[in-house]
Amino acid sequence: MADNRTFTMIKPDAVENGHIGGILDQITASGFRIVAMKLTHMTKRDAETFYAVHNERPFFGELVEFMTRGPIVAAILEKDNAVEDFRTLIGATNPEDAAEGTIRKKYATSIGENAVHGSDSDENAQIEGAFHFAGREMF
Ligand code: UDP
Repeated sequence: MADNRTFTMIKPDAVENGHIGGILDQITASGFRIVAMKLTHMTKRDAETFYAVHNERPFFGELVEFMTRGPIVAAILEKDNAVEDFRTLIGATNPEDAAEGTIRKKYATSIGENAVHGSDSDENAQIEGAFHFAGREMF
């Protein structure tokens, strides 16, 4: 994946609460182009693999449980400086610390159930996009 791309998920809490449209609207209004997207449901194994970097953390079990409890929207987004700009758009991990107007400030309910994921580096954007999408699904 090119360096001007990032990977995102609208997490199960935001899907359950009917925020897919509001979040996608804010993403595209902020200048990101959707180059891949689907509604999907991660298996326990998918979530354990996707978040493997956190497998020693105390919240790992809860995180896997949360991410597998319902469908998510997975997407690849394109924009100059995509990774950094998208992290700014979503805000801090904990919505209490997130800046006003950010997606997590508006839609997250806790540090765990925080509405959206955004890759933290170009390298991870590449890995995470390829985890969810085949080459023919990226446009
Ligand atoms: N998380 C959690 N408890 C914590 C920290 C993180 O449940 O104390 C969850 C939360 O859903 C977060 C994900 O684990 O988005 C990955 O954590 P990371 O520190 O990578 O935060 P992010 O990059 O998503 O802001």
